[in-house]
Order: sequence, then C-alpha cells, then structure tokens
Amino acid sequence: MESALTARDRVGVQDFVLLENYTSEAAFVENLRRRFKENLIYTYIGSVLVSMNPYKELEIYSRQHMDRYRGVSFFEISPHIYAVSDNAYRSMRTERRDQCILISGESGAGKTEASKKVLQYYAVTCPASEQVQTVKDRLLQSNPVLEAFGNAKTLRNDNSSRFGKYMDVQFDFRGAPVGGHILNYLLEKSRVVHQNHGERNFHIFYQLIEGGEEDLLRRLGLERNPQLYQYLVKGNCPKVSSINDRNEWKVVRKALSIIGFCEEEVEELLNIIASVLHLGNVHFEEEDSGSAAVTTETQIKYLARLLAVDGTLLKEALTHKKITAKGEELMSPLNLEQAASARDALSKAVYGRTFTWLVNKINASLVYPTSRSASVIGLLDIYGFEVFQHNSFEQFCINYCNEKLQQLFIELTLKSEQEEYESEGIAWEPVPFFNNKIICDLVEEKFRGIISILDEECLRPGDASDITFLEKLEDTVGGHPHFVTHKLADGKVRKVLGRDEFRLLHYAGEVNYSVNGFLDKNNDLLFRNLKEVMCQSENNIVTQCFDRDELTDKKRPETTATQFKNSLAKLMEILMSKEPSYIRCIKPNDAKQPGRFDEMLIRHQVKYLGLMENLRVRRAGFAYRRRYEVFLQRYKPLCPETWPNWDGRLADGVSTLVKHLGYKPDEFKLGRSKIFIRFPKTLFATEDALEV
Ligand code: ATP
Ligand code: MG
Repeated sequence: MESALTARDRVGVQDFVLLENYTSEAAFVENLRRRFKENLIYTYIGSVLVSMNPYKELEIYSRQHMDRYRGVSFFEISPHIYAVSDNAYRSMRTERRDQCILISGESGAGKTEASKKVLQYYAVTCPASEQVQTVKDRLLQSNPVLEAFGNAKTLRNDNSSRFGKYMDVQFDFRGAPVGGHILNYLLEKSRVVHQNHGERNFHIFYQLIEGGEEDLLRRLGLERNPQLYQYLVKGNCPKVSSINDRNEWKVVRKALSIIGFCEEEVEELLNIIASVLHLGNVHFEEEDSGSAAVTTETQIKYLARLLAVDGTLLKEALTHKKITAKGEELMSPLNLEQAASARDALSKAVYGRTFTWLVNKINASLVYPTSRSASVIGLLDIYGFEVFQHNSFEQFCINYCNEKLQQLFIELTLKSEQEEYESEGIAWEPVPFFNNKIICDLVEEKFRGIISILDEECLRPGDASDITFLEKLEDTVGGHPHFVTHKLADGKVRKVLGRDEFRLLHYAGEVNYSVNGFLDKNNDLLFRNLKEVMCQSENNIVTQCFDRDELTDKKRPETTATQFKNSLAKLMEILMSKEPSYIRCIKPNDAKQPGRFDEMLIRHQVKYLGLMENLRVRRAGFAYRRRYEVFLQRYKPLCPETWPNWDGRLADGVSTLVKHLGYKPDEFKLGRSKIFIRFPKTLFATEDALEV
C-alpha cells in the first residue's frame, strides 16, 4: 500500500477528476508537472485528453503501442492519444455515429503533431485493401503538401500552421478508410508580403530555392539564394536549424506525385510560386508627375511568362487603377505607395487562391466514387486563442473562432453530462458555469454585432476609416459588458487603452485590438484591372483561381470577416452533428526545449483552455463512473461472493461488491448500467486493495 501511494505521489494521477483538491489550479499544475517530469505527457479530464508538448521524441508511438491501445478502455491503461483515437473509432463502428476530434491549444502546443498521430493510428491499424492503401497514402501525404504551402517559421513555432484545418476521414462499412475531405480556414496571406523579424515566409519558397533542380530554377528565373527576394528578406531569417529545406523539397515533390499531380500541374504550380517571388522584386520609381512607373523590366518578363499573361497589360495594371467617370472608363495613375500596395495585393490574392486550389485538388484526389462511405471521423486542427502585445484583425478572427468552439464545447459537454445522468436515472444537479454566448453574439449578431458594423463601414463610401469604425462600435455596442474602449461613460478617458483600440473581454481573458488596418483587411480588395489581367492567364491553375464570372458579377464579394463567420457557422453545424472528443494541447515553455516546465506559461494556458471549468463540470456530482461489467471485472477478486465469477444481474454484483468493500451510501450511486463514485479517495482505496 505504501508503495502504491508513493507511485501516485511521484507520477500524479492519470485523470484530473481523481485530484482530491480539484478546484485548485495549483494542484492541477502540480499534477501536470509530476507527470511531465516522468515523460507522461498525456492526462485525462474524464474523456478529454490533456497533452503536453515534450519537445523531444518519445518512444510511445510504435506499432506495439498502437496495438496495445486497440479495443481497450480508457482507464485500464495509461492515457494516450491512441486511446482517444481508438475510442472514437470504436464508437463510430459500434454506435454508427460520426465522430470528431477537436484539437486546441496555442501556437506550438502540438496540435498539428497530434492530428498527424491520430491519422497515423488509423492508417496503420484500420483494415486495408489495395485501393484503401492509396487513400491512406494520399491522406498521409496531404500533410507535407499543405504544411509546405500553409506553414511557416514564426517566433513561437518553427512549423506553425498559418491556416485552420478540418479534415474528414471517411470509413466504409468494414471500418476501412476510403476517402477524405479537407476544409481550410483563413490563411494568413499577409505573410506572403511581410514577415516580422525572426520569422519566415511559407516554407515552400525556401524549399523551392534550396532544393529545386538547376534547370527547374533556370526555367523559373530564380537564383539559389533566398536573400535576393524582397518577400523573403524581411524577417532576416533564411535558415532555421530545425528545418532542412532541401530534404523537405524532396518530400513535398514525392507527396505531390502520390496525391496525383502530373508533371505539367507541378510545373504550373511552381510557376505561380516563382511568380510571387518575382512580383516581390518589382520596383517602382516616381515620375515627375508623381505617378509610379515600373523599373524592373526583367521581372515583368518573367511574370508574363510564368503567369502566362500579357506583360504590357500587367505593367499597366500594376501602376494604374481603372475608374469610371461620367460613364467612361479611365486609367488613373497610382502613386508609389499605391502601386506597391496593388502589387502586394496581387501577390496575396495569387498565393491565397492557389492555396485554396491546392486544397480542392487534394480533395478531388481523396474522392473514391466506387466506395460508399458509411461514417466519418473529423479532425479539427485550428488556431488557439491568441494574445500578443499588438493584436489586429487576424487575432480578432482567431479569438472569435475560439469563442465559437468554446460555445460548442459548453453545449456538447454539458448536454452530454446531463444526458448521461438522465439516461442512467440519476438526479441531475445543474452546474453553474459561464456561458460565452453573449460574447459570440457581440461579435456576430446581425446588424448590431461587431462584424456587421465593420462590414457597414467597409461599404460606406466617403470618409469611412478605421477610426470611424471604432466610433460606430462605441455608439452601437459601447454599453456591452464585454466591450471596452478608452472612453468612459462620464466623458473621461481610460488611460490603459489607446485611441485606436477596443478591448474584448473574452471567456479566456481580456484582449486589446488595434483597429488599424481592419477596413483594408476586411475588404481585401484587388483592383479590377489586375483581376482582368489574371483572368486572361493561360496558366491552367491561374484560370481556375481567377474566374471570369467575377468580372461581370455586380454583387460585391463577401468581406473577409463575413466569409469567416459563415464558414465557422458551417463548421459548427458539421461538428454539432458528430460525437466529439477533445485534445487540449499545452506548450511547456517558450524556448522550444525539452524538460523545461514554465509554470506561469502553463497556468496561463490552463486558464485559456478553460480546463479548470472543464474539470469542475466533470467533477460536479461524481468523479468517476464505470460500466457495471467493467467495474466488476476489475474488482471482483476483492469480494468472495463475486470471485471468481458473478452469475446474477450485473447491478446486483456491483452492489454486493461495494457493500463488501464498505462504501457508504453517500459515496456512490447505481445507475442503469453504471456505477457513479463521488470521491476519488473511495476509488483509490479500492485500487490499493487490489495491489495488496
Ligand atoms: P501552430 O498553432 O503554430 O500550428 P501547433 O500546436 O500545431 O502550433 P505543432 O506544430 O504540432 O504545434 O508542434 C510544434 C513542435 O513541437 C513540433 O514541430 C515538434 O517539434 C514538437 N512536438 C509537438 N508535439 C510533439 C510530440 N507529441 N512529440 C514530440 N515533439 C512534439
Ligand atoms: Mg499547427
């Protein structure tokens, strides 16, 4: 008994619900610390998996490990991401219900690695046939491709996903993966033209330059030196020790072939990537009239060839804007600043649309018309809550997304908790909790929400600006309990907020947003004449990205925020229709180093992930619950009447067993199919008795 206690002291509890002092954040973090020290990176809160990034390779992902978790109940074996994967798979198979696995956490916490581990688990353990093997390969190979085009080195993560991703893995009636589908969310396009110090552009640019074959680079007009390209020098970080761009290039090239890209398509894709680099090197000079003129003819020549467009038209479109005056179309010259921003807008549009095209292309390769999919498991790997020194439109969108996911979490977990009590015939005592619906409404409500007000300002001709947007916000939502600006009700000024800022009181904490750039980013406009040039392209991919209908369509395209809002609404619908599992990822330190446990940083994440609240809800009432047969199977040796076998009703067996063990009436309840145990210590005593 002594030794069992010591072991628990050393490695902590494998399920937080077993913590005696479950409302204490200190106890929670201490448990994480003990486990982390022992390389036990996984811990449960009931069925939620908390995962700590070890920042080192652990020997826990082998084929043997995978096999060990197949068909085994959660608590019988130490917590693992394979247990969650297997559990979702089994529920899908036995209950015929679609599943989803929601992975959250801040940048660098291990979401993408986690999603890859889940996918690998299915690829290795699910039944296969030849055709299924192709699907498995393509599913797995979609990762390096999407990471090359959608990930980048940031200050927080050398392989940071700069887009949100939801992937459905489709299974047939035998449980074999037969297809897949990916939805992508809000790629950080601004990175194409600008990177902060110490950060890089998307990996693909460096991979191509470092790894591309000599004659390929010659065809693309590229030199093997990233420092020569304006779009790659801003972060002053061409090489990263953890990244081997040349090897990655080979991996990506192979992955593209496995996904089914033919040589011409790869060439056209790379033409586009190279053209973005050439665009970045297009320079302008100021003419006497004050208008901008292109000085870099070579770049225009390359661009014309790579994008298969008319060079003269492109040059004109980069320095002019088409306006309609008195029914006549005129070309109005741009000044230096305008020309540079038109060029950057084109680069962002080309890259962003190509990325979407790539996702569609991968999706097409994952469709298997001959096999009918019976059910799916969805995997969501999406940006976690973000708070920086300076927060802008992007953080606003990301944090709004997290509010929506929290909302889903609340609805689904509380609902399922309640349903479980009801179906087991046990009285449900409601748990008080903060419902963040009020914040979701503040952002997304029709007419009155922040997004609606932003769109309105974007549409308003005349003097609309980021500041008039902020003023409108003050007028409309100024009194909202979760919205604050520098203005106080009595006309005084709140010093902690700038005049261009608003603060949202998110469920996870306060964030100040600067409104600078909100209108531009939301509008995301590309001048019409640039669009026209692109629509005439003879590069097949560009043609698919720039549809001619766009030119004749009188309807204004949806703003970025509204598009995002609508795609999130669709995502919520998809997730709501499935049974969720949760993986909450935590980053142990900012130095990306193994073995370092930065307590402040971890506490912060425990708070932002809402883990204490999660635990409180789970513990309200009963800490622990087990199906009768499982409970009996494990503890039957402790009672002469249930050992070696109990022949009667399971409930009676459990009742006899716990009576023999001396459980007090207030310590447990018997439901229809499960025993509910109120305190962890009761269960510990029983566990310890087993070991004597
Ligand atoms: P972002 O939001 O920036 O995309 P993320 O949560 O997806 O971040 P990952 O890219 O998954 O973070 O992880 C960052 C790095 O941490 C990985 O490149 C890897 O080095 C390390 N890492 C994460 N999970 C594990 C793991 N289970 N085992 C070993 N290393 C890991
Ligand atoms: Mg990621």
